[in-house]
Amino acid sequence: MQDRGGTIRCHKEINIIKTRSEFKEAEEAMNALRAAEEYEVRETLKKCTWADPGDIAFYRNDKSQRNRRKILDGLVKDRRCPVCGQLKIKAKSWVVNRFATMALCRSCYVRVREVPPDQRETVSVSLYAAPIERFELNIEELTKLRTRANVSQEEFARVAGWSRSRQRDLESERVQSIGKETLESVLDTLAHFGLIVSNNPD
Ligand SMILES: [Zn+2]
Repeated sequence: MQDRGGTIRCHKEINIIKTRSEFKEAEEAMNALRAAEEYEVRETLKKCTWADPGDIAFYRNDKSQRNRRKILDGLVKDRRCPVCGQLKIKAKSWVVNRFATMALCRSCYVRVREVPPDQRETVSVSLYAAPIERFELNIEELTKLRTRANVSQEEFARVAGWSRSRQRDLESERVQSIGKETLESVLDTLAHFGLIVSNNPD
């Protein structure tokens, strides 16, 4: 990923400005932000690996942040909240309404939108399902058992019904836990190659 030197530099500048001048605060901070933003765009474009989905997501996010700042420039140029009057520099500290006609600082928005406890309604829906059972796999034991059965990763994977790289992942730190189905396939495959596992969890 990119180094985010621009952002860090800009935060430093803002801190210096805050201690110096009350009046020029907003304007200078905005200029610092803009400079940092331009720097970041240049660096991002320079370093962005377009084959890397993470990089593309980062760039898109960066672009949407710039659009947000543009909207805020039109609504609250001085970055002072119309309700509480506080100075909020970061674009993330603002909430803009759907038609981009009004902006509130996030804490004012949260306060305005909070429904009092006695006005809350109970809704009965299927928002989430029952917890899914996961198992921590002892990767060392799996490798030992596979070796004991005299089976290669490739062969094991073929019988289990997944790829060689999936098998490699299962036997490495990469996989933290497995689902019930995968566990059953592992046990079935071991049985296929002559080993019935009597599990002793610790
Ligand atoms: Zn506010």
